[in-house]
Amino acid sequence: MLEQAKLTLKKYYGYDSFRPGQESIIASILSGKDTFVIMPTGAGKSLCFQIPALQLPGITLVISPLISLMKDQVDALGTLGIAAAYINSSLSYSEVRKRVAETRAGRYKLLYVAPERLQLESFRQLLTTLPVSMVAIDEAHCVSQWGHDFRPAYLAIGPFLQELGQRPVVAAFTATATPEIKQDIVRQLGLADPRIFVTGFNRENLHLAVRTLRGKEKRQFILEYVTARAEQAGIIYTATRKETEELCNFLNENGLTAGKYHAGMADAERKRNQENFIYDNLRLMVATNAFGMGIDKSNVRFVIHYNMPKNIEAYYQEAGRAGRDGEPAECILLFGAQDIVLQKFLIEQSVPHPERRKYEMAKLQSMVEYCQTSRCLRHFILNYFGESDAPEECGTCSNCGNEREVQDVTAAAHTILSCLIDLRERFGVRTLVEVLSGSRGKKVRDNHFERLPRFGALAQQYPQSEIQGLVGWLVTEGYLRQSDGQYPVLKLTDSGRKVLEEQVRLERIVPKQVPLQANSVGDDSLFQILRRLRRTIAERENLPPYLIFSDSTLRELCQRRPN
Ligand code: ADP
Ligand code: MG
Ligand code: ZN
Repeated sequence: MLEQAKLTLKKYYGYDSFRPGQESIIASILSGKDTFVIMPTGAGKSLCFQIPALQLPGITLVISPLISLMKDQVDALGTLGIAAAYINSSLSYSEVRKRVAETRAGRYKLLYVAPERLQLESFRQLLTTLPVSMVAIDEAHCVSQWGHDFRPAYLAIGPFLQELGQRPVVAAFTATATPEIKQDIVRQLGLADPRIFVTGFNRENLHLAVRTLRGKEKRQFILEYVTARAEQAGIIYTATRKETEELCNFLNENGLTAGKYHAGMADAERKRNQENFIYDNLRLMVATNAFGMGIDKSNVRFVIHYNMPKNIEAYYQEAGRAGRDGEPAECILLFGAQDIVLQKFLIEQSVPHPERRKYEMAKLQSMVEYCQTSRCLRHFILNYFGESDAPEECGTCSNCGNEREVQDVTAAAHTILSCLIDLRERFGVRTLVEVLSGSRGKKVRDNHFERLPRFGALAQQYPQSEIQGLVGWLVTEGYLRQSDGQYPVLKLTDSGRKVLEEQVRLERIVPKQVPLQANSVGDDSLFQILRRLRRTIAERENLPPYLIFSDSTLRELCQRRPN
């Protein structure tokens, strides 16, 4: 049977060999066992149910969450010469009946179905008339309320499987892999003692990078980065719709053609932009996380996150949309301290349940650690997904690739730890950072913390984001810990106390951040004048500004000083 699978791979898809995991997953399904597959985005999950579908007698139902995704897959199968159809809300009832009848007559091997259909008694009845050998559930994490794409209609799948007279083999697929969600999926779908496949999360061709920047610097960075890659397709994710709009406008004002995508736009416009992007008519897409699930565009060369996402799963799934063709691609996360505040706010707004909120906050904390770590980013992510044997250094991420420097943070750590004692270990990171940086937030004012001996003690030396980074580092290194509960409070640990009592020198290894050029230019106003001039010329000549002078040329001009 596996021989046949190989032939199918070659005959229909034109590929010579299976990717890691695919062959054993196909074998598991063909042997009739429920199968649960966790594979990163772009690894090639679709094949794993499509090939068995062709070999099994009868038909395979594929449950898939998005209408667009369904249509894309059915169309793609059509071009490969595989007969497939879909049923979703875009069809009238008579069309639905027609497709089911055609399926019964053996016209299709795969029938894609929207989960909402399964909520309809009449439709389920219709399905029972079909010889279903397999049910494949794509994006299976949508069944879990703990996941980030929960779709209530997915809850109809489990009961539907129970209802079927003869139980087909069930295969579930997802790219989300935390242990809780894994268990939840198995339970909600009622998988019977499934074989579980977790294939490597490592995507060798993705170069991971984090840069700590403030709002304005982020825009500047993107402008330069994107301008320097004139031919490449890329996605820029923002945390909010408003930011998608603003950033997209900003890029367009600067002569870069960018499209946008978020849930607040009209369907038609969204769809048009998405198609233009997929078919290479538009190389830049600025979007919220509404964009991308299941989009199979292989030549995305970079994914930039304008804001830190809410957790590592979301980040890796979005970043993973780069480089599906296996060629090198870059995943850059632009981190700013205000991102933490924003994500906390979003979680507080959207997650009412206290337990659940705690869980989300803990995941956010890991995301923050990723942004602040000085260790290998790839190692960090793989370790997060449970691949504890991942190499310590990948050699290509921004933390491995960059030079590092050793900072002596003994004095700063003393100040931070002592300040925490001043605060009687009764406040969280935010208040501590505010006090140390001398900012007068509400808590500070209400409690008169401006009278504390260490109020503003680090303000001269470090920007607020850096103080936050230092506190984060002290937590990661185990000198401080955060208490549980809804309002976590910072506590000194034993080793933290030791730092204060004994003479321990603390060294922090940080990636040497190459300062952004925009900031290293002494005369920023000259740069702005030149850009305005450039825009005037551009408008007169009706050309995009970057064709007149690139930003880097302008910057070089700025740096030349008359002797
Ligand atoms: P996933 O659903 O896991 O995100 P897809 O099934 O959409 O990934 O596959 C991603 C890309 O990889 C597709 O373009 C697919 O054709 C390609 N692909 C899958 N399996 C193979 C293979 N064995 N050899 C080469 N390319 C493959
Ligand atoms: Mg997929
Ligand atoms: Zn690395």
